[in-house]
Amino acid sequence: MLCILLVDENPTDRLLVIRDLEREFPDLQVLEITDYQTLERAIASGGFELVITDYRLNWGNGLDVLRMSKAQYPQCPVIMFTGSGNEEVAVEAMKAGLDDYIIKSPRHYFRLAVAVRGILERYTAQRQLTHLENRLQSLLNRLNVGVFRVTPNGLLLESNQAFLQLIGCASLADAQRLNLRHLFWETFDPVAHQIQPQEIQVPQANGQPNRWVLLTQYLNTEDSETVIDGIVEDITELKQAELALRQLNETLEARVAERTAQIEEVNEQLEGFAYSVSHDLRAPLRAIESFAQILKTDYVAHLDATGQDYLNRIETSAEFMNHLIDSLLEYSRINLSALQLEPLDLNRVVTQALAQLELEIREKQADITVSPSLPMVYGHFTNLVRAVLNVISNAIKFVSPETRPRVTIWAEEINDHKWVRLWVEDNGIGIDEEYHQRIFSVFERLHGIEVYPGIGIGLAIARRSVERMDGQIGVESVVGQGSRFWICLRKYEG
Ligand code: ADP
Repeated sequence: MLCILLVDENPTDRLLVIRDLEREFPDLQVLEITDYQTLERAIASGGFELVITDYRLNWGNGLDVLRMSKAQYPQCPVIMFTGSGNEEVAVEAMKAGLDDYIIKSPRHYFRLAVAVRGILERYTAQRQLTHLENRLQSLLNRLNVGVFRVTPNGLLLESNQAFLQLIGCASLADAQRLNLRHLFWETFDPVAHQIQPQEIQVPQANGQPNRWVLLTQYLNTEDSETVIDGIVEDITELKQAELALRQLNETLEARVAERTAQIEEVNEQLEGFAYSVSHDLRAPLRAIESFAQILKTDYVAHLDATGQDYLNRIETSAEFMNHLIDSLLEYSRINLSALQLEPLDLNRVVTQALAQLELEIREKQADITVSPSLPMVYGHFTNLVRAVLNVISNAIKFVSPETRPRVTIWAEEINDHKWVRLWVEDNGIGIDEEYHQRIFSVFERLHGIEVYPGIGIGLAIARRSVERMDGQIGVESVVGQGSRFWICLRKYEG
């Protein structure tokens, strides 16, 4: 429905206007105004979409109507439809916001409907545009990202609220007083037309510390002038976090390096200490052994059975201590000498270890099976023989008394055939999972020396030897079900 205000004091003219318009707008509603009071009331209550007014009126003229209506409803179109106006009136009315001027004559009547249609369409389009613009503006202002357009001279043409905040300005006018050329235009590469986002620092107009932003710019034209459109994202917090993290990492690395150096130094001192103590214990021990020997040869007649028993115990203990010192010295020495790794045939290593254990194997009647074609690895012969020997020796030793030791030795390739794992499996007493790590430390023993003799250093020596060859050692075992020790070394591709 279209509702219009028709201000005309001539009833015939009103009739003609209405008839004409009804043809174009079938559900037309017309408020007919014939005096000033009704006009005032009608304008006060509104509800019309268009005003059509005559020029000459008893109480005034069409310009008054135009002004009254525009004052109240700037968005409501007004058409002057008159037979009594002139060019001057038309010009003045147009200046005051008149939308169209049509001369009342039979020739022009049909024009009125066309003009009304045209004006209404224009107003609708205008309203939609304004609406769209408002929506866009509020969207831009609600964005967390700054949006701007600058001229090549650095003058800010447009921006949203977020952008103003990012440069520390309260309003667009404030920002326009700054020259932003150094920030945006000069970082721009005109050849590329769009550049990779850049991280730059932006000084703040309000004197606050610089902010870090991620800036993306595009070359554009507005009314055939070159402009730059850009998007600015605040990354200050990200940058600060990055910086803090970098600093933390640096201090952390420095601290780790420092601690490692300290630990290495302490370790070296300890090693040296252990070595010299073990070494120095030898001399008094030799003296004890020698004097015990002299007692035995020269004074045995002066000793009764108890005395002789004590003497024997001194000898056994001295022997054990000798063994202990040997082992400790051996353990200390592994770390002191530099190792040169070379290709080794595992079969040769195992054969050598078994040869050194021949006596024990025979004594225990151990049954040893070795896989015939063991692969080649990188290692150090003496070191590896020592490690393998300790593991096989344990495999023979830690079996329950009535069991005949059965040891199986084989190897597998792992990690994409880059590593070799040598397995030594026994049918012994097994090891509780709780101790799977600890048994590789010095003096860790799980059994009394009476049942299973030893000093608890064999596996520590084995581990140290293996680690010095960049390898690893470990065990899989369940109490009562035997153990499988493994040694991992880098494979040699012949
Ligand atoms: P030692 O053999 O001199 O006691 P090791 O360092 O060689 O010292 O071994 C540490 C401990 O680990 C042993 O005392 C034993 O309790 C346990 N152990 C080592 N090998 C085996 C094995 N094959 N079966 C059961 N227990 C073992």
